[in-house]
Amino acid sequence: MKTLCPCCSKKPYAECCKPYHEGMFPENALKLMRSRYSAYALSLAEYIIATAKVPPKSKKEILEFSEHTHFDNLTILEFIDGEKEAYVTFKAHLTQSGKDVSFTEKSSFIKEGGKWFYKKAEEIT
Ligand SMILES: [Zn+2]
Repeated sequence: MKTLCPCCSKKPYAECCKPYHEGMFPENALKLMRSRYSAYALSLAEYIIATAKVPPKSKKEILEFSEHTHFDNLTILEFIDGEKEAYVTFKAHLTQSGKDVSFTEKSSFIKEGGKWFYKKAEEIT
């Protein structure tokens, strides 16, 4: 049986986020967002740092977060694509020590030199 992608796309990992984690550039911000979610689930801290315009956390903090969090599901609520800027609103369904720590966020992304980067987050309550 093939391993399903941790971004909850229901696709095999090898046909979903794995190529991005191995160096391919995501074609759009939505694919980048999904691959960053699965990178958190797989403790791929380097990928989180490399795909962010301003790394929000240190490698150690990312690894600690990944280790202490269950990545239960990802719901994409809205995707606004653009030439140089794009937005993805999503709900990350997360659990830490049995406690629900899910959150909804609108992430912005920018394209530089043909490559998409995560720019910043705006938490939605
Ligand atoms: Zn995926």
